[in-house]
Amino acid sequence: MDDVLVVGAGPTGLTLACELRRHGVGCRLIEELATPHPWSKAAAVHARTMELLDDMGLAEELLGRAKAIQGANIHAGGQRIGHVAVDGIESRYPHIYGVSQRETEDVLGAQLERLGGRVERGVKLESFVEDDGVVSAVVVGADGARTTVAARYLVGCDGAHSTVRRSLGIEFGGASYEERILQADVHIDWPGRDCDDEIMMFIGSDGPLALFPLFKDGRYRLVAVLMPGAPEVDATLDVFQRLAAERGPAGIQVTDPAWMVPFRIHCRHVEKYRVGNVFIAGDACHIHSPAGGQGMNTGMQDAYNLGWKLALVARGRARPELLDSYEAERLPIARQLLSMTDSMTRGMERAVKLKNPIALALRDRLVRFVTSLGVFQERMARTLSQTMIGYPGSPIVAQDRPSVLSAHVTRDGEEPTLLGWSAFGDGPTPGERAPYAPCGTAHTLELVRGAKHVLFLFDGAAATEAGYRNLDAIAAQVRARWGDIVTPHIVVPHAARPAALTFDSVLLDPDGSFHRRFGARSECLYLVRPDGYVGYRCQPADGERLERYLAAHFVAPAAAQVA
Ligand SMILES: Cc1cc2nc3c(=O)[nH]c(=O)nc-3n(C[C@H](O)[C@H](O)[C@H](O)COP(=O)(O)OP(=O)(O)OC[C@H]3O[C@@H](n4cnc5c(N)ncnc54)[C@H](O)[C@@H]3O)c2cc1C
Repeated sequence: MDDVLVVGAGPTGLTLACELRRHGVGCRLIEELATPHPWSKAAAVHARTMELLDDMGLAEELLGRAKAIQGANIHAGGQRIGHVAVDGIESRYPHIYGVSQRETEDVLGAQLERLGGRVERGVKLESFVEDDGVVSAVVVGADGARTTVAARYLVGCDGAHSTVRRSLGIEFGGASYEERILQADVHIDWPGRDCDDEIMMFIGSDGPLALFPLFKDGRYRLVAVLMPGAPEVDATLDVFQRLAAERGPAGIQVTDPAWMVPFRIHCRHVEKYRVGNVFIAGDACHIHSPAGGQGMNTGMQDAYNLGWKLALVARGRARPELLDSYEAERLPIARQLLSMTDSMTRGMERAVKLKNPIALALRDRLVRFVTSLGVFQERMARTLSQTMIGYPGSPIVAQDRPSVLSAHVTRDGEEPTLLGWSAFGDGPTPGERAPYAPCGTAHTLELVRGAKHVLFLFDGAAATEAGYRNLDAIAAQVRARWGDIVTPHIVVPHAARPAALTFDSVLLDPDGSFHRRFGARSECLYLVRPDGYVGYRCQPADGERLERYLAAHFVAPAAAQVA
């Protein structure tokens, strides 16, 4: 019997299959299409997805195929009325990366093969039942033969029309927009064009037009929104040329289409991501306006969230309740995503509908003002890049922090001072993404890369013998008991390893950047999950409390328990 049957080899299913294998669990990945689509639906990879790919060891490969987008411009009435830079994201990958979904899938597919898996093409899930913890799925092969596949878990990554979601009877609630979209991947040019790495949005009175310089072959993605009531038109080159000329820069020429498609947009999501041992992920759970290019990125993050949990439970190393946290963490993200893309779509609709010259002038001034605000630019960048996403309400994240009344006014051993207590409050809270920061010659992504949790035991400013003994003891205990799922490091704000420490893995943070970013002015610990979010933290570093957290969610190997 297989551990996991993954249905659908789009970006979500491919990411999940890779993640399961990376975390040591076998799975089958079936895909009804005999060959992948040649065209690219999604074409933008955001910073948080690049971080996921970094963790999987694939970021460099994808970067080699991608084009970094530097900014976005908003035009109306023949003038640029707003500019947003896309480079200030606190990440090793601070841009939006244009790359075709096909290439992203190729990179993931090749990785799956390197990990010993493969996509079983031409194999369609027809139906399934779950009985006593075993899922029996009927699949139809390319030759039309029906076979039954037994697995402990089934995950439907089978897209918007998900068979798995329908079979589970999960409602896909929401609505469809009246607007229609015409999209083409084309070469474009116009007199006076001075850059090819910034997005251009044009707010015309008949509807918006956007030009995305997403492809390394020089093609742009051209997106024209047809407002409610606009006449039906086909997605032909002539139509794109006409729309671009009416709405876009003067003299624009549209040529050489690779793909032209009309589609409607929807805003739907499920309220349930799991029934028993069957899960759904990606477009099977949420579909929305393409504004912001979030869909594929969100599906891959669903898979990243589920992968390590499913693997640990399947391997008997985590309590089954861990799996409940998948829905608890990802459903709020889908709700926020739909709300955000809906606001962007409705905002654009309202901006286009304005006809009165005074209202138009006010709109343009407002856009100019808002987009010039640093705080707006930062918020947009963090939201679209998905680096702002966190799981603060998750049932599997926690912290132990003394009351402010127990903080000392002046330093007293490793107990926090008032300043240390307050700095810890400003550090990443449970469920937040571990922030990107340098640590000596390394950085966060490098340090948390891999399939295990990572425990950072921060020394803080006080350097006491008792403090070092405590950190040594916690690190040794965790390694002895949880070493196959947790990697401990002691982090010191010094250029050299303190002689009093005996544990072998000591990270040097000579300028204190890593300490500062984690609010570690005084001794504390952070446990970072395999998907890069803070699972647990406490101040001061307390081995017993950490052990309680670990034992509540994970299962120590029998040998370690006996020892
Ligand atoms: C025109 C268009 C433009 C888009 N632009 C963007 C964008 O710019 N940015 C962005 O992030 N997103 C964009 N998206 C959305 C993005 O493409 C999806 O969010 C993404 O593909 C979702 O990935 P997925 O793996 O969840 O689902 P899918 O990519 O739909 O993959 C599901 C797979 O499951 C297979 N399958 C289905 N049923 C079965 C079955 N019964 N048995 C076996 N296999 C099955 C399907 O063949 C398919 O390969 C766009 C979508 C469209 C349609």
